[in-house]
This record gives sequence, C-alpha cells and structure tokens, in this order.
Amino acid sequence: MNQASPMEIPANRDPLVRRVFDSVAANYDLMNDIMSLGVHRLWKQAMVTYLLPQAGQTILDVAGGTGDISYRILQQSPDSRIISLDINQAMLTVGRDRAIDSGLDDRIDHLVGTAESLPLNDSSVHAYTIAFGLRNVSQRTKALSEARRVLKPGGKFICLEFNHIESASLDTVYQQWSRMIPQFGEWIAKDRLAYEYLVESIRRFPKQSELASEIEAAGLGRVGWRNYSFGIVALHYGVRL
Ligand code: SAM
Repeated sequence: MNQASPMEIPANRDPLVRRVFDSVAANYDLMNDIMSLGVHRLWKQAMVTYLLPQAGQTILDVAGGTGDISYRILQQSPDSRIISLDINQAMLTVGRDRAIDSGLDDRIDHLVGTAESLPLNDSSVHAYTIAFGLRNVSQRTKALSEARRVLKPGGKFICLEFNHIESASLDTVYQQWSRMIPQFGEWIAKDRLAYEYLVESIRRFPKQSELASEIEAAGLGRVGWRNYSFGIVALHYGVRL
C-alpha cells in the first residue's frame, strides 16, 4: 500500500474542495458507509437528536451536501423548513434528487453559497447545523461569525466534525485505518487525491478545546462539545445569546 506524504492544502482551499466534491458526489454516500463502517449514520442521528428540531422552525444546514442531515431533521420534525446550503452544485443536485424521491422537496430549499458569506438576513434561522463541513471551509473565523449573525437569539449552533482521539493507543489504530482510506477512494470513487485530502484535512483540524475557543470567540455562548467514538468525531454546540 502506498503511504503518501501529507498533501499540501492551500490557504484558499475552495477550488480544491470544489474539485474534490465534484469528483466524489456520485459515490459520496457509499464511501461514507465504507470509511466509517456505517457509523456516520449514528453520529448524524445523534446530532439531530441533540438539535431537537421543532415544527415551524427554519433550520440552516450549511455544507448540506447530499442531504443526510436535512433528511434526518425532517424525519424527526416533518414541519420544519430546511435551507441546505453548499458551495458545490454537484453535491446539492444529489441531495435535491434524493429529496424529490422521498417527497421532501417542498420542505427543503437548496442554495449554492459559502459558509463564509451566507445569503441570509441577520437573525433569520432558529438553528444552524454543519456536519463534516467546517473542516473544509477556508476561512473558519468568518464562517463562525456568519453562523452567529444569521441565528436568532436563543438559536442553536451545532457542528459535527472529525476530531482527535484522546487515547494514544487507539489513535495508533485509527491512524493505520486512515492510511488505508486513500486506497479505498482510489478503488471505489476512482479518486485517490480526494481521500488524501480528507485524511489531511482531519489531521489539520483544531482539537476539541481549540475549536470550542474559536466558537466562543465568534460570540456564541454556552459552548461545549461531546465526543463520539472516542473523539474520532465531536459534536460542538453553542447558543446565540
Ligand atoms: N453535511 C453533509 C454530510 O454530513 O453528509 C456533507 C458533508 S461533505 C464531507 C462536506 C461538504 O462541505 C461538501 O458538500 C462541500 O461542497 C461543502 N463545503 C465545503 N466548503 C464549503 C464552504 N465554504 N461553504 C459551504 N459548503 C462547503
């Protein structure tokens, strides 16, 4: 098995991220199941359970991609309205087709846009979710401040993201698994680079406590996090006070 040295990720990662998700859109859901052994479904469900969506709420799902979070929110709260926003049209198209097939398209607006400059009014959404998206954003500080801007007072911010395992021995096993991911990417999605990017972007992402500080610095209150699967993934939360 090839062991590539860490790939370079440019400061403006938008073109790379667009290319990655253009390439993987059609195989994205299958790859998620393979790479996480299906566990991503549990992490996402835990996020929506924590969100506790209510009828009549407008929920912004940033980096909405193929719509997993929107779909789960509407299963739990069919009378919510979702705005699924993503920088990548190909990912949103898969999500929109899924919504049409499931009869949910009248509850979800699909918007092309970036997390750093949301095309929404101040204080316009009841909750902001971002799952496996913040790691891909070029300007995280701007994205977090946009999250605060669009949330109504009392609105929840929730970020689900790959994070860092705290136990050194478990981390060794996880790093070995991570090294195999680009190979799976090459076999299944026919794109090794996309999955090298995934592994490297996780490695560079701030640790749980550092991300919590960034969220607080953006002006959100009652910030905290909970780990899933020993910290492979963490759910960070906060509230617009
Ligand atoms: N949230 C979905 C999920 O959990 O299955 C999709 C996650 S996917 C790993 C990351 C998504 O983030 C991609 O669809 C990508 O296009 C989107 N993305 C990356 N950078 C973005 C940005 N700056 N603004 C909005 N979306 C972005």
